[in-house]
Formats: sequence, C-alpha cells, structure tokens
Amino acid sequence: MCGVFGIYGHPEAANLTYLGLHALQHRGQESAGIVTSDGQQLSLHRGMGHVIDVFPPEQLALLKGDNAIGHVRYSTAGGSHLKNAQPIAVEYARGSLAIGHNGNLTNADVVRENLEERGSIFQTTSDTEVIVHLVAVSTQRAVEDRIADALAGLRGAYSLLCLTPHSLIAVRDPMGFRPLCIGRMPNQGAYVVASEPSSFDLIDAVYERDVEPGEMVVIDRTGVRSVRPFGDTPRSTCIFEFVYFARPDSILDGISVYEARKNLGRQLAKQHPVEADVVIPVPDSGVPATIGYAEAAGIPFELGLVRSHYVGRTFIEPQQSIRHFGVRLKLNPVASALRGKRVVIVDDSIVRGTTSRKIVKMVRAAGAKEVHMRISSPPTKWPCYYGIDTPTRAELIASTHSVEEINQYITSDTLGYLSIEAMHQAVLAGRVEQHIKLNGRGLPVVQPLNSGSFCNACWSGQYPVEFTPPPKLRQMRLLDC
Ligand code: AMP
Repeated sequence: MCGVFGIYGHPEAANLTYLGLHALQHRGQESAGIVTSDGQQLSLHRGMGHVIDVFPPEQLALLKGDNAIGHVRYSTAGGSHLKNAQPIAVEYARGSLAIGHNGNLTNADVVRENLEERGSIFQTTSDTEVIVHLVAVSTQRAVEDRIADALAGLRGAYSLLCLTPHSLIAVRDPMGFRPLCIGRMPNQGAYVVASEPSSFDLIDAVYERDVEPGEMVVIDRTGVRSVRPFGDTPRSTCIFEFVYFARPDSILDGISVYEARKNLGRQLAKQHPVEADVVIPVPDSGVPATIGYAEAAGIPFELGLVRSHYVGRTFIEPQQSIRHFGVRLKLNPVASALRGKRVVIVDDSIVRGTTSRKIVKMVRAAGAKEVHMRISSPPTKWPCYYGIDTPTRAELIASTHSVEEINQYITSDTLGYLSIEAMHQAVLAGRVEQHIKLNGRGLPVVQPLNSGSFCNACWSGQYPVEFTPPPKLRQMRLLDC
C-alpha cells in the first residue's frame, strides 16, 4: 500500500510531484518523500506523516531540478520508521540512484541474507533496499541494465520508479500486480509516471497509457524507450485495487474503478436480494457499489452514515467509556434516514469484523428495524504478500468462521458476500474501450484484462508467486530520532 509519482523535464518538478503525491495520499499516509535531480546531483527530503505536513514550501524550494520521483508509504514490509521512508537514495560506484517502490518483494529476506553474508550493510528493514544493493553489485554497464539485472533475481510485486541524475526509469513487475501509468503535460512536453492516472488531473497532465507488466520505460533526453527485460509470465493484476484500494476516479489497465465498483454492487444485488426500504453505503469506499446495488435492486439510496474526513492519527479518548467511540470518530448515523426502516448496508470488505459489528449496532441504535449487510467482494480469508496491508490469517474473521457465524458476530439480520466469479465479471465490465490503444491493424497494443488476469489470493488462497511467510519483523536497533 504505497503510491509513486515521477516527472521528467519540468522546471517545477518538485512542486508537481508534491501535488501528484497529494492526489495519491489514499495509497499511504505513514511517510512521504521526494527526490529531485538537476542533471548533476540528487536532492532528497522525506518525513513521517501526510504530504502536506512533510513538505512546507521552504522545504520544497530546496528540491532543485527538472526531474523528480516521490513516494507515499503505508508499510507492508519493514516497520514504520523514518529510515524506511522512501524514496531510498544512494551513492554507489557508478553514481547516484533513487528508488520508490509500490508492492512487496516475496524473496527479499533470502536475497538480503545472501547479500549480508557477502558484506552488504543495510540501512533499513524495508524490502526495497535489496534492489539498490543488487543494482550496486551488478556487473552490467548501463544503469537500466543494472536495474533489470537486479530485478531479474527478485520475485513478487513491484511498480518501481528510479531516478538517476540523467534519467527516470519506470518498471512494472512481469505479473503486473500493482498499477503504473504514463502521462504527458501537453504544454511543456514533460513526462509523468504514477500509480494512478487520477493524480494526473490535478496537474493537467494527460494519460497516455499503462506501463505493461514486465515493461521497463526509460525516459531521458533522447526521449522514451520501452524495454522488455523479463520473459513472459501470466498476468496477475491485483483485483482488490478495483474493489477497495484505488481511487474511484482512476482508470487502471483500461478499467474504470468507479464503473467496476458500481457493477460489483449490481452483481451483489442479483446474488443477495432482500426486501428493504433503503440501501446505505459505508463511506467512502462503499459508495459506488451502493449506487449499483440501489439501482439494480430498485431500493432508494440514502446517506445513512456520515464520515468525518478529519480523523488524525492520534486522538484523546475520554476516560468515561463511550459506546462505539473508535468507529464514531469516523462514522455517525443519520437517524432520519434510518428510523423504522429495513436497511441494507453495503461495504467493500470485512477484515476482522470489528468495524461491521460496530456499524450494525450503531445503525440499529439509530432506529433501523432490520439491518442487512452486503459485501461487494468474497470473504477475505488469506493475507496478501504482494503489497496490501492485511492482518495474519488468524485475525481474518472469514478464515475461521462461516458466513452465518460472521453474520451472528456482526449482529446483522442477514449477510451476503459476492462470489469470486461475479467479482471478476463485474470488474471486467468496467472496461473503458477508449483506453485500449489499437495498433495499425486495429488490434490492441496491450492485451485487455480477462478473468484469468487477476490475483485474487486474499479470497481464494491461490498465490500466483511463491513466498516465504515473513519472519518476525527485523528489529531496528539504530533509530533516527
Ligand atoms: P474490519 O473492522 O477489520 O472488518 O475492517 C473492515 C473495513 O476495513 C472495511 O470498511 C474496509 O473498507 C476496510 N478495509 C479493507 N481492507 C483494508 C485494508 N487493507 N486496510 C485498511 N482498511 C481496509
């Protein structure tokens, strides 16, 4: 759960990266960082917290140069420390290099142990650092070849941006787990690369295309080159990006996240109909699916829960216990929309079940006569090893409880999840044809996604890349305070 943004060839590279990262803030709120290049050297600033707090104007002004990459982080490997913030920037024998990574490497621990045995000294506990060490020890000459060489020995998920004094290099892993796309600023001709195209809108950049799985895009003063350093591998794009994680105003790999979510809601209404007076979303992520559910079921949509967007990371809990305090900070019921009604609540997923339980109780306390929970994805039974933050199997309620047991635990009248097949169909039906580029013969340049293109391991337990379950988190003994 991270976001990356990069720009090549714009005099305001740092400012635009700041804006791009701001638009990707939903992908990670723990730390943020930007590295710029002025053609000679790299300048770096990173900090803990939100983009707006990490980069006051005077700090941004220090980041000189026409090229930049930035990163927002939500730790899924390595702890939440400033040392693990990205981009990582290093000096090695061949010059300077900065890297920002979204995804999780599944064999990073083994590779790290090998490197440490040969004398490498690591500064962080993040999986990303192995990439820079492998680049440094590569015997290839050109930096893009060194990066390809490093990545060839790594497995798992990476959407990666690398900045050198002279180039910006974007790479997407061969299975295409995490999104990555390229755009252009029409007036200045600058190139932009980002996790999600919705970050282009804020800076008036125009989406050009998605980076293909297994593709490396090198942008330098000679233009843009596309290289395919890895062999062909079956695609395995994370479908949870469409269900929950990405912004609804993004189009990823030719599929509109918003349309996909509405379709998930429509399918959910077909699979789990119920007599009800209103259907309400758990905002914000449940809203598009609820619109689809309401439309397909012919039940009025109501905003039965209001969300506060101002919940900080820490808050003072009153000493006197208040019912549902944690969830109420975020969500509060609208009694007039719920009183005396049979209510359907739509959410995208149940993880531990604690949120749903509190929401159901809250909606009932606000006067609802019946409460029916509908989830726009299947039961989450397996942890993600490719970059989504999920708890261990034991903490995932659906890995140890049946749907009926979960229904009882969250105290709803009925509970319905979407099937895996219906989820695939719904997401694929969100395809936006104009986004699929055609070649001279009218054939798609990039093969559109099909139902075999997705990773759905968190629901099916079918992991497309082998992994070693992570050992106990490495202790960080040197803390930068
Ligand atoms: P829980 O109380 O653990 O069942 O959490 C369920 C809520 O967490 C749902 O409203 C989801 O939208 C949200 N959610 C699902 N996956 C994640 C995730 N990986 N990180 C944070 N929140 C999530």
